Amino acid sequence: MKIDFTKSNDGLVPVVIQNYLNNQVLMLGYMNEEAFTKTEELGKVTFYSRSKNRLWTKGEASGNFLEVKSIAIDCDNDTILIKAKPFGPTCHTGSTTCFNEVSNRGFVYELEQTINDRIDLAEDKDSYTYKLYNKGINKIAQKVGEEAVEIVIEAKDNNDDLFLGEAADLMYHYLILLKAKGFKLEDVENILKSRENGPRRPE
Ligand code: AMP
Ligand code: ZN
Ligand code: ZN
Ligand code: ZN
Repeated sequence: MKIDFTKSNDGLVPVVIQNYLNNQVLMLGYMNEEAFTKTEELGKVTFYSRSKNRLWTKGEASGNFLEVKSIAIDCDNDTILIKAKPFGPTCHTGSTTCFNEVSNRGFVYELEQTINDRIDLAEDKDSYTYKLYNKGINKIAQKVGEEAVEIVIEAKDNNDDLFLGEAADLMYHYLILLKAKGFKLEDVENILKSRENGPRRPE
């Protein structure tokens, strides 16, 4: 497989950069053949900068390099996908990624992403999320069970604060269990959506 640099008039091919650990999309840039060759030689992502009009090794001034971990080419050889290890923030604004969310499907999905980051990036090994996840399925499932019992208890009481607290605990631990089982909130959402004839009784 070879990249086709002749498809665009300027010889540039778009390059998507992902964090190799969690697949977060970090930025989009362009490479010509020379930039691609240099990227492979250096092991650091090197674009052709249209504003600078020259090869640009990301991080050359800031030190925030993107170390190449893998390179993929799309089905028709005109787009590159690089998984990289970022050193420091990728965006010149100081953000991890150049992309700012302008819409999302709600806070719970954000929470799911935060949980994914805590676990996959392992930046803080003292984080409760990280530690619980690494205790394994049994321990996580047990926590979900405990929180489920607690919400049942609080449901029978008349203390709204305690009930809501347990509802939050349950949802948080449930998301960790989903991840530990290799699933996403979206998988559950799809099952709920597929039950067009109304919910079935849980087993
Ligand atoms: P750097 O490659 O990180 O040393 O940054 C050098 C210059 O490139 C910065 O001053 C910015 O003008 C520009 N730059 C850095 N990172 C990005 C980025 N992620 N997207 C667009 N321009 C960038
Ligand atoms: Zn393509
Ligand atoms: Zn940026
Ligand atoms: Zn609780």
